[in-house]
Amino acid sequence: MDAPVSQREFALDVVRRLRDAGHDALWAGGCVRDQLLGIPPKDYDVATSARPEQVRELFGHRRTLAIGASFGVISVLARKPLDPIEVATFRTDGMYLDGRRPESVAFSDARHDAHRRDFTVNGLFFDPIAEEVVDYVGGVADLEARVLRAIGDPQQRFVEDKLRLLRAVRFAATYSLALEPATLAAVQSMASQVSQVSGERIGAELRRIVTHASRALGARLLAQAELLPPILPELAPHAAANDALWQAALLRLETLPKATVASGLAALFYGMIDVAPMRDVGRRLKLSNKELERAAWLLAQLPVVMEAASLPWPRLQRLLVHEGAPELMELLAASLPADDASLVRCGAELARSPESLNPPPLVTGDDLLRNGIRGGRHFSPLLEYLRDRQLDGELASVEESLAAARKWLAEQPTGDQR
Ligand code: ATP
Ligand code: MG
Repeated sequence: MDAPVSQREFALDVVRRLRDAGHDALWAGGCVRDQLLGIPPKDYDVATSARPEQVRELFGHRRTLAIGASFGVISVLARKPLDPIEVATFRTDGMYLDGRRPESVAFSDARHDAHRRDFTVNGLFFDPIAEEVVDYVGGVADLEARVLRAIGDPQQRFVEDKLRLLRAVRFAATYSLALEPATLAAVQSMASQVSQVSGERIGAELRRIVTHASRALGARLLAQAELLPPILPELAPHAAANDALWQAALLRLETLPKATVASGLAALFYGMIDVAPMRDVGRRLKLSNKELERAAWLLAQLPVVMEAASLPWPRLQRLLVHEGAPELMELLAASLPADDASLVRCGAELARSPESLNPPPLVTGDDLLRNGIRGGRHFSPLLEYLRDRQLDGELASVEESLAAARKWLAEQPTGDQR
């Protein structure tokens, strides 16, 4: 057999080898759903009747990893650049005691394995050899009707695992599925218990909700599902009152052409969660430092660029050349009418040549020191002053800059210029 060239071929090979060894094997879950929706699957998962030890023996210990051995999940390694494929033994979950994970699992068959999954659209199998969908849960009909429905008793399914509350909103939003009424009612009645889920997992779901094109719908569904009070309590009263700030947030989310974690969260929070509380939220949700700093910068600078029309050029220039400027400009465009003077000015300034938008500094700190200009605690304000005057077109050479530096220092109030 030739080495597989795509993830899909590799997933087919894995099924074939399991079948040839006498086991049942199917593609399972997300990849089946995505394929039926015409979306290229991110990854392929295989479910099988083979026990974990049998999977390892079949593919070889050196080509497998027992990553989720307690759940019966074996990772089958591929040749580069393909990703490993997770092969999970059909199972039935035991009792859920911690609101997140089953205490134990028992190996079973495909039908039981389908019923342990969360939503009907996620409970499908596909036989890639016969090219047939295997549906024990009515997932095909729900996909066709574009409905997100819990498998079995919705209340019970959310009692077992509280992460499913957020997954319900994420899947409904990102796949444009309507939450089936009993499923929605169960989410609403259980929503406060989502706080049993770790901040990190909540953060991971929120990240996916705000970065997806459906982010405005995602925010609306979080509110409708009553998930805001437990996860973003600062937003809940605004959403409940459907006030102007909430509506503006939805419009921003809708209008943003794309979003990073930082710009998506800034679009959602603006006007309702300020920079300092945003940092608390970010830490609670275990955002990375980079995401947190960028979101804080965007929240702080958005009101500044909204006034770009009347900002001194050096002040605006520093925002426009910042690493976060593209995200800031997208937020600005999503916040103002297209003919707003501030938006128009930013567009015009950004169209400058690179040398005019961000000219190299005429003098550096080293240049000043080499010319005997020290300045002590005035040193960095001095550099800033020189940069401002350069950007304003008032300084054009090193000599002019050095002269301006000496003059400015002489005008400073204290004698401490060493
Ligand atoms: P995506 O990877 O895009 O988030 P997915 O459907 O592949 O979507 P995963 O989290 O990778 O989601 O899980 C794979 C499958 O495992 C799901 O399709 C679902 O059948 C099952 N599953 C995952 N998490 C849960 C859960 N918390 N409760 C029940 N079943 C789950
Ligand atoms: Mg997946």
